[in-house]
Amino acid sequence: MAVDTIKGSLREKGVRLTRQRGILLELIDKSGQHLDAERLFQLAKEKDPKLNRVTVYRTLKLLKAGGLVDELDLMHYGGDQHYYETRMKQEHAHVICLRCGKVEEFFGEPLHRLRRQIETHFGFQIVLARTEVGGYCSHCQALRAREMEQAAAAAPPSLPATGRARAKRAV
Ligand SMILES: [Zn+2]
Ligand SMILES: [Zn+2]
Repeated sequence: MAVDTIKGSLREKGVRLTRQRGILLELIDKSGQHLDAERLFQLAKEKDPKLNRVTVYRTLKLLKAGGLVDELDLMHYGGDQHYYETRMKQEHAHVICLRCGKVEEFFGEPLHRLRRQIETHFGFQIVLARTEVGGYCSHCQALRAREMEQAAAAAPPSLPATGRARAKRAV
């Protein structure tokens, strides 16, 4: 249904929905993920072997310019890569694990509240908001804790330094 809405608004903007554009829109919308241009190209090629990279990149640019697709950098987790999702989704924040790259989506009232607070505070009219939060998922937190333990165990004993610190404090 979302894709139909997008197709409708494309028509309104006078953009012809070619078969190839349709394939890309469908992929972005149905994946439910945040795919980069290269991955989208690979998936699109499976549906239409005649599709080439240039067309895919050009189409993404067009969809973005038409306000139908959002381009995200997701905290640059994957370097300079950009990721795409449809604008038909409800506003949400992206919560990105800086270690494994897992992306969670946070929906909800706090985001709307933040938007209202910013508008009131600055007398600003928000058109577009993008919220990204970087950190470590619970799985990676556990892995990091283990790594730090291992690093501490492998490090040379630091007893003399501790001894000195204690001696200083005693004075
Ligand atoms: Zn993680
Ligand atoms: Zn998202």
